Amino acid sequence: MEIKFLDLQKVNLSHQQEIEQRLLNTFRSGWYLLGNENKIFEQSLSQYLGVQNVIGVANGLDALRLIIRGYVEMGIFQKGDEIIVPANTYIASVLAITDNGLKPVFVEPNPETHNLDGSKIEQSITPKTKAIMTVHLYGQVSFDDDLKNVAQKHQLKIIEDNAQAIGAEYKGTKTGNLGDASGFSFYPGKNLGALGDGGAVSTNDDALAKTIRALANYGSLEKYVNEYQGLNSRLDEIQASVLDTKLQYLDQDNDKRRAIAKRYSTEISNSKIELPQFPKDEKSHVWHLFVIKTKVRKELQDYLLENGIQTIIHYPIPPHQQVCYKEYQDLQFPITEQLCQEVLSIPISQVMTDEEVSFVINALNQF
Ligand SMILES: *Cc1c(COP(=O)(O)O)cnc(C)c1O
Repeated sequence: MEIKFLDLQKVNLSHQQEIEQRLLNTFRSGWYLLGNENKIFEQSLSQYLGVQNVIGVANGLDALRLIIRGYVEMGIFQKGDEIIVPANTYIASVLAITDNGLKPVFVEPNPETHNLDGSKIEQSITPKTKAIMTVHLYGQVSFDDDLKNVAQKHQLKIIEDNAQAIGAEYKGTKTGNLGDASGFSFYPGKNLGALGDGGAVSTNDDALAKTIRALANYGSLEKYVNEYQGLNSRLDEIQASVLDTKLQYLDQDNDKRRAIAKRYSTEISNSKIELPQFPKDEKSHVWHLFVIKTKVRKELQDYLLENGIQTIIHYPIPPHQQVCYKEYQDLQFPITEQLCQEVLSIPISQVMTDEEVSFVINALNQF
């Protein structure tokens, strides 16, 4: 048996007729940017999330960049201000901060959840701190009353990097509606994936929404009138029509992921492998990735590949050790650095069959 890390062809072909029909309609409409499809998708997503405003943008990195840029244009953030961000996040969270001339302040994650540790945030707050960027890594909610209270106490904005956790909930509220503003990615491999790049911002702050809508369209709300030195970051009509079609199936897809995660959690048993916690509140995790830990990662990855099972490491090098961030190379984050040595993501997706899941479980148990 061959098990791809993610079979995107199978993912998208599972709604082939519906997607092809929507694509064909968009193709034939003659309207390809800032049209009905984008409007419809923004409305569908805002309804799904329970958030006032959704703005379709070109990708997830832009969504996060635009949130910060929006706050800069509104005079809420200044260049040189600090934003707290987990040290083990994907680099895009950090790029969004530095691209706007702000400073990332890295905080170690909780090694059990891989997410920000509410209790460790406060010691990193300075008079320059303006926001916490919380990252719902691997699909698990990274938000709780501790985080909310710290933000409130110090008057910090909460920005959600929700690239990996669309559909997850904290006490009945969806990610993307927990903080002040949230960035989404519709990269093809995400739980809601486009046929190319796509992203969105959600926020209940109407002024921020208006600013971002302008910034994403050359800094203009009225054609040829430019309020800001904006950029061009829009969600194509083609992508919006695909996303709007697939959004209907997101909850059922996420349930399928949860069922696989549950099987992995109960049936994988190997002293060389540490499993992620399966949360008591099942809705708080949408299992974008199923990330195990092992001290013998190279051997395990090679063994799985020999058995036809693809795996990926999310992520091998933390942002502070990247060549592009030489200024942070002397910082030390032992928890993050150890995670980078030990994590391994095994296949999980809504199109895996029971037999494929069993095959992965058996392989891991026999290692
Ligand atoms: C995918 C991802 C992004 C960036 O999204 P793109 O659409 O690829 O730009 C940002 N943050 C996290 C945590 C991601 O996983």
